Amino acid sequence: MAGEHIDAVEMLRRLVAFDTTSRNSNLELIDFVRHYLRGHGVESELVFDHGGAKANLYATLGPRETGGIILSGHTDVVPIDDQDWTTDPWRLTEQHGLLYGRGSCDMKGFVACCLALVPEFLARGLKEPIHLAFSYDEEVGCLGVHSLIEHVVANHPKPRLCLVGEPTMMQVVDAHKGIRSFFTTVTGLEAHSSATHVGVNAIMVAADLIGFLGRMGEELKARGDATGRFTPPYTTLSVGTIEGGTAVNIIPRHCRFAWEYRPLPGTDADEPIRRFEEHVRTQVMPALEEKAPGVAAITTVPRSVTPALSPDPGSAAEVLAKALAGTNETLAVSYATEAGIFQVHGIPTVVCGPGDILQAHRPNEFVALDQIRACTAFLRKLADRVCAA
Ligand SMILES: [Zn+2]
Repeated sequence: MAGEHIDAVEMLRRLVAFDTTSRNSNLELIDFVRHYLRGHGVESELVFDHGGAKANLYATLGPRETGGIILSGHTDVVPIDDQDWTTDPWRLTEQHGLLYGRGSCDMKGFVACCLALVPEFLARGLKEPIHLAFSYDEEVGCLGVHSLIEHVVANHPKPRLCLVGEPTMMQVVDAHKGIRSFFTTVTGLEAHSSATHVGVNAIMVAADLIGFLGRMGEELKARGDATGRFTPPYTTLSVGTIEGGTAVNIIPRHCRFAWEYRPLPGTDADEPIRRFEEHVRTQVMPALEEKAPGVAAITTVPRSVTPALSPDPGSAAEVLAKALAGTNETLAVSYATEAGIFQVHGIPTVVCGPGDILQAHRPNEFVALDQIRACTAFLRKLADRVCAA
């Protein structure tokens, strides 16, 4: 059976129509991609999550004996909950050269460009393999890609380099911050709110801990960024959610907050959590133990770990991406991507993809048609280098 030929915009339309919000299964989208590739004689390898409801997809075009080039993207998107959309987020809508839809920019646009060019790559005869690596659960902490990379490294020749197509307006990004995020839970002791001498107020303990984080954030800010490349120019620290308490006249037993920091590449990414835990152990817990022995507890569990992407001047990935994008410049960005994880596995990686990160995660997310064209041109130049004809 001859495979279907689908241009990048039509491909994007089809991908956007799958509601792959991270909390949902992505298997319908994966199935669509798998069938499309099979139509062109390309088999896919799937790496499932524990529950079997989500999968990463890995497919190789061309010879399998050498390392080759990974084109990497994620299949999940952020929720549309509480966002005011003027178009149907799951239906790609073109207006004045802009393509609206959830994930159009972040980052089904890149995935669509890659898929649309598959027949062309194959027809021109690849000398070096191109691998498509599409992950799940990027938006909730780059969770899926770990097992994908482990699968690749364990079962295939090590890829020569990786291009991650997160939105950069087709500029070459060689550095980004990492993310470390955590849930901290404080368990106190309930009591009538008039009896503060017997209760342990979990919310007030949490507020104290958050104050400590705030002061550490200020210190990280003062430390700055020696490279001068990042905006803002320091490791940021932020508390994102907090919940706890039952009523104003009950001393609360429970409080939980989620927090994160985004370490600059080249800095000690463990330092803030190490100091926080030390503060808890030496400054906070002893006083609680004294007041309510064996009752109060503070536990911090990691939510996600995404390593920063460190600049690697002259790396195979940087050299190739600059040549394809026709630029001599590289940028540093403050958002994290899967690129740092590939780099940790020894695969030189840069980020370069269509669309503007400013449009990501917002209502009325869009990617400009021009950006889809620029990405297609970028990938065609890649074909010029890796194809025989
Ligand atoms: Zn993304």
